[in-house]
Amino acid sequence: MITSNNIQTPQSFAIGIDIGGTSLKCGVVNQSGEIQFSFLVPLKESKTEDEITSQIVIAILQCADKINGPILGVGIGFPGVIDNDTIIGGGDNLPDFEQLELGKTLKLLTGFNIVMDNDANLMGLGELIYGAAKDCTDAIFLTVGTGIGGAIMINQKLHGGYKNRGAELGHIIIQQNGLACSCGGRGCLEAYASVTALIDHYQSLNKSSSEEIDGRYIIEKYLSGEVHAIETMERHFDYLAAGIASFVNVFSPQKVVIGGGISESGQFYIDELTRRTQSLAMPVSLANTTIVAANLGNKAGLLGCCANVFQKFKALDYAIK
Ligand SMILES: [Zn+2]
Repeated sequence: MITSNNIQTPQSFAIGIDIGGTSLKCGVVNQSGEIQFSFLVPLKESKTEDEITSQIVIAILQCADKINGPILGVGIGFPGVIDNDTIIGGGDNLPDFEQLELGKTLKLLTGFNIVMDNDANLMGLGELIYGAAKDCTDAIFLTVGTGIGGAIMINQKLHGGYKNRGAELGHIIIQQNGLACSCGGRGCLEAYASVTALIDHYQSLNKSSSEEIDGRYIIEKYLSGEVHAIETMERHFDYLAAGIASFVNVFSPQKVVIGGGISESGQFYIDELTRRTQSLAMPVSLANTTIVAANLGNKAGLLGCCANVFQKFKALDYAIK
């Protein structure tokens, strides 16, 4: 009698290509989330759709060449709106990519199954499957940086709304008629709680500061008790917690995962957000929620691209093919 222990399931792999404004992050990941290898392809010389597409094709073939085993498919991340493996637009650094059926083109050119999604969504999925929200079914991911990106995961799947146009967690309005936002709206969470907003606010309070100011600098000053940094960080925590509390009230996630460089400042950062969220969210919605820092760092996108492949194309599909 054959028991499941006797059947050796062959290790299968996914190729991930995370498209950014300046480079492609490429790599191969196995089903356990172990990165076999990864590399960066700078896009300095490639600007047009055709040039970047051919760089992606070369990268996919390079990845496939190095792997000895079944490749289930290729996961692509793109910083814009993706519907059904088509780039609708919205990539600020790649403005020419509009209504581009990149998934279809790459499948034709490489023969691999292709699945695409927005890059922040995929970072969230990476954290859910392999990172800080591993073993959760329901989680919210927020990446706090130049802007605020996010992902909603329900029952272990990304939730992007109809035609994948939603999950813009940085653009919930927390201040009616408030500060102008990069999306064209006003009063968005991103306009108040991003690192860009943090720096702008600090500079408006401390005009005499001539040093290069970034998030790390403000955190250092905050921890050393500098008055402007404390005021700036207090506002940052308050607005970000208001956003988190709103997501908790709507989704009641098991985890809220905070990513971006600032989330790596230390446990105090997560503790401040937790304390403030507790005072704002509905207790019943927050009852099963923990706020945690992301733990995949800059590998989250690549791992999410590959997790999306493993979710979409099961091992069986390859066997049939
Ligand atoms: Zn906005």
